[in-house]
Amino acid sequence: MTRVRRFVRTTCPYCGVGCGVRAEAEGERLVAVAGDRGHPANAGRLCVKGSALADTQVIHGRLLEPHVDGRPATWARALDRVAGAFRRALAEGGPGAVAMYLSGQLLTEDYYVANKLMKGFLGSANVDTNSRLCMASAVTAHKRAFGEDVVPCDYGDLDCCELLVLVGSNLAWAHPVLYQRVAARRAQGELRVVVVDPRRTATCDIADLHLALRPGADVALFNALLAHLAAAGAVDHAWVGAHTAGFAEALSAARADAAEAAAICGLDQADLGRFLDWFAETPRTVTMFSQGVNQAESGTDKGNAIINCHLATGRIGRPGCGPFSVTGQPNAMGGREVGGMASTLAAHNDFSAEALDRVGRFWRAPELARSEGLKAVELFDAVADGRVRALWIMGTNPVVSLPDADRVRAALERCPAVVVSDCVAETDTTACADVLLPACGWGEKDGTVTNSERRISRQRAFLRPPGHARPDWWMVREVAARLGHGAAFDYTGPDAIFREHAALSAFENNGARQFDIGALSALDQNHYDALAPVQWPLRLGADGPARPFVNGRFSTPDQRARLIPVRHRPPVQRPDAARPFVLNTGRLRDQWHTMTRTGVAPRLFGHSDVPTVALHPDDAARLGLTEGDLAEVSNDRGQLRAVVAVDPGQQSGSVFVPMHWNDRFSGLARVGVLFAPVVDPLSGQPEIKHGAVAVRRYPVAGWARVAARDPLPDVLLSDLSFWTRLPDDAGWRYELAWEAAARHPLHALADVVVHDNAVTLDSAATGDRRLLLEWDGSAVLLAFAHPDRAALPPGNQIASWRDDRTAPAWRRLAGAAGAGVDASRLICTCFEVREAAILAAVADGIAGTGELGERLLCGTNCGSCLPELNALLTGALKPDPIMVGGG
Ligand code: SF4
Repeated sequence: MTRVRRFVRTTCPYCGVGCGVRAEAEGERLVAVAGDRGHPANAGRLCVKGSALADTQVIHGRLLEPHVDGRPATWARALDRVAGAFRRALAEGGPGAVAMYLSGQLLTEDYYVANKLMKGFLGSANVDTNSRLCMASAVTAHKRAFGEDVVPCDYGDLDCCELLVLVGSNLAWAHPVLYQRVAARRAQGELRVVVVDPRRTATCDIADLHLALRPGADVALFNALLAHLAAAGAVDHAWVGAHTAGFAEALSAARADAAEAAAICGLDQADLGRFLDWFAETPRTVTMFSQGVNQAESGTDKGNAIINCHLATGRIGRPGCGPFSVTGQPNAMGGREVGGMASTLAAHNDFSAEALDRVGRFWRAPELARSEGLKAVELFDAVADGRVRALWIMGTNPVVSLPDADRVRAALERCPAVVVSDCVAETDTTACADVLLPACGWGEKDGTVTNSERRISRQRAFLRPPGHARPDWWMVREVAARLGHGAAFDYTGPDAIFREHAALSAFENNGARQFDIGALSALDQNHYDALAPVQWPLRLGADGPARPFVNGRFSTPDQRARLIPVRHRPPVQRPDAARPFVLNTGRLRDQWHTMTRTGVAPRLFGHSDVPTVALHPDDAARLGLTEGDLAEVSNDRGQLRAVVAVDPGQQSGSVFVPMHWNDRFSGLARVGVLFAPVVDPLSGQPEIKHGAVAVRRYPVAGWARVAARDPLPDVLLSDLSFWTRLPDDAGWRYELAWEAAARHPLHALADVVVHDNAVTLDSAATGDRRLLLEWDGSAVLLAFAHPDRAALPPGNQIASWRDDRTAPAWRRLAGAAGAGVDASRLICTCFEVREAAILAAVADGIAGTGELGERLLCGTNCGSCLPELNALLTGALKPDPIMVGGG
C-alpha cells in the first residue's frame, strides 16, 4: 500500500530564532524536515538541531499515560488528584500555597490558560517560568527604559547594520541561523563585528575585535562607552532632549566608572579605545545581547547600560540599529506576551490598580491576584520551606537547570503535591512527581510561538499524539473545570484561546501598549490554521509591521524613554582561596537544554560526547591536569566530575562547564548544583555565569568504553567514579572510570548482564582488558578497559565491532573486525563529516570552506560547523584527544 506523504509548515521548537520548518510526514512518522524558504526568520536555513528534528521524533522514552504515585492511572483519576491537591493547598494555605512553573517550550495558548487560571481564578501570581533563567533581566531592563517589555529590533536590522556588537552571546552555537546571516554579510565586507565575551568562542571566528573582558564587567564597559560618546560629540542631544529623560544622571554615573573601565574590564586600553571609536562613528549599530548579560546579579543594570548608549545616540526605532536581546527558548517571547511570569499580570499589563481593574473585568475574574508572585528561585525556596504545598511544573526540568539544584530536588521531595506534565517519561524532575501527565510534543501540539523579533508563527500538529498524550491547555481546562471554573475555560481548541489572548491585548489599550494584536482576535479556525508568520506591532494591510518606537514615543506615562544611572558592581559569587576559579556555563553546539530531546539522537553526540570542564593551559599545568584527565569541580554546595579540556580560549582563573548534562546521561554532572541561589534584585534572574569553585584531579584506576544492546543496570553505575550513558543506533554506549578500591567493572559486567557466553582478552602487563558477552550467538556487549583513557578505542569503533555479526569473537576483541570506522571528531553533523577527512582534504591542498564543501559537503547545510572548518583550515583547532572516540 502506498502511503501518502504530506507537507506541513511549522516552526522549530528549539531556540528563539524561531525558524520556519517544512515537515514531511508519512502516516504517523516524520520522515524529513527542511527549512521553510518562505519564513522570514530563516529563509530556508536550519541549524544542526533543527535539521535533526526527524532524528529526535521518537517514541522511545515518551511519557504515554498519566501516573499517580508511580502507577499508571486514567486521565480522570490523575486530573481529580491534581484538582484535589490544589483545592486542599488553597484551603490550608490560601493562594500563596499553590504555584505553577512553566516553560518557554510551551505554546502561547498553553501559557495563556495556565496564567489565567492561576492569576485570575486561583488568586495566585505564583506562576513563573524557566524563562526567568533566560531573559528576565532583559525584560526588566526594557520595562525600566521603555515602560514596556518591547524588543525594538528585528532580524532585518542585521541586514543593514554596519557594526554588530555581540555581548555575552555565543551566537554561532546558540542562535546559529542568525550567525550565518551575519557571517555572510561580514564576508562581503559589509559590517564589522565586535564580540564581548570572556571566552574565545566559535563566534569569534567572525570578530574584527574580541574584547575578552573580565567576567561580570559589562556595566563598566558600556559606562565607558556612554562617557566616550559624550566626549566624542556622538550624543544626539536634540533626540535625547525630545524623547528621553535621565540622560544627565546616567552620564554622571557612567563617568564615575569610565576612568577605571579598562582596569575593571581587564582590557587593553587600545582595544577598548578601538571599540569606543567604532561605536561612536557608526550610526547603524546593533548591540545584540544574550545570557552572558542576563544571567547575572547585575543583569538588569547591564541591559540598561547597553540601552543607555543607544538612547543617547538616538539609535533606536530606526533601521539597522538598536539594543537587541535574543531569547534562548522558542517561545520565551510568547510567555512574556501572555504574562506568564510572576512579575507581570497579562498582555503586558502589570499589577497597577488600573491594570488589575482592566484585566479583572476582561476575564470576569473572581479572585484576581493583586500583586507579584514568587519568581523562580524564591518559588522553589517557598516549596522548600512549605509555603507552597501544590506545584505544577510544565515542560521543564528545574532539578537540572536551577541554581542550587540539589536543594531544588530536596524541596520537590518534601512538597506534598508535585505535578509534572511533560512529553518525556524520565527526567531528573519527573522522578520527583506525585502525578505525571503525558503532554503532546512538537509535531503533535497546535498553537503559536513568538520569536526574538516579535514574530508570531504557527506550530502545527501533523502527527497523532502517542498513547494518551494531551495538550497542556487541555489539562489546564480540565483542572479548571474540576475547581469550579469550567465556564471561563470552556475552550474548544487553541484557536479559541488565541482569539481571547489577542482580544485581551487590545482591551482598553488605545495605543498605551505596543503589544496589541487585537486585529487577530476575529480569526476563525480556518484563518488561524492558515496564519502566516506575523510580527507586532501590527500594521495589517500596509507594507509590513510597524517598527517599535519609530516615532520616538515610548510606553512610559510621558512617552519618554528613560536612561538609567547604573554603576559597575562585581558578581556576588567571587573566588577565594578555597574556591579559586570562576565557573561559567553555557550551551554546546549540538545539544539543547537538558538533552531531553536532542539526547535521543546518537549523531548529536558526535561533536561532544562527555561532560567536560574547560581550563586555560596555565591553570591545567598548575593543577597537574592534562587533556582527558578526570577532574572534580566542587564547592561547599556540591561537586561534579568531568573530563578535562585544555582550552586557550578560556581566561586563566575561569572554567567552563556545559549546561546540558544531568543524571540521565552521566553521574555527577549537573552544573546547577554548584551555583548559589543569588539573583538580580530587580529581575530575579539567577547569577549562573559566575560561580566559585575548586578544581582538582580525580584519581582513577582505569577507564572503559562499552557498547551494549541494553542499558546497563543502575547498580553497576552507582559504584563508579564517572559514567556516561548515550544512545547509539543499536543500543547504548558507555564511558566508565573507577577508583583503585572499586571492583573492575568488566568483572562486574560479566556478573550483571544476562549472557550465555563470555569471551575475554587480558594483558596483565598493560592492564588492557576486553570483554565480549554473547546471547544466542549475537554480541550483547563489547567492552574495552585500560588504565590510560587515550589507549581505548573510540566508542563508535567499539559499537561497529559489536554489531559485526560476521566476525568471530576473537577478531572483535582484537579490534580487527569489520571495515575501518573514522573515529575522529564529528565536525559536520548534517553530513557526518569527521575531522580526519577534513584534515586529509586540507593536506591535499584544499584552501577554503567553499572548496571543502564542494568535496565533502561539510558546512553546506546548516553552517554550524563553519567556525570549526575555518579553524581546521588555519590550523587553529587542535586535534581533540577527548574526542578521539568521536561519537
Ligand atoms: Fe531551530 Fe536552529 Fe533555527 Fe534555532 S537556529 S530555531 S535551533 S533551526
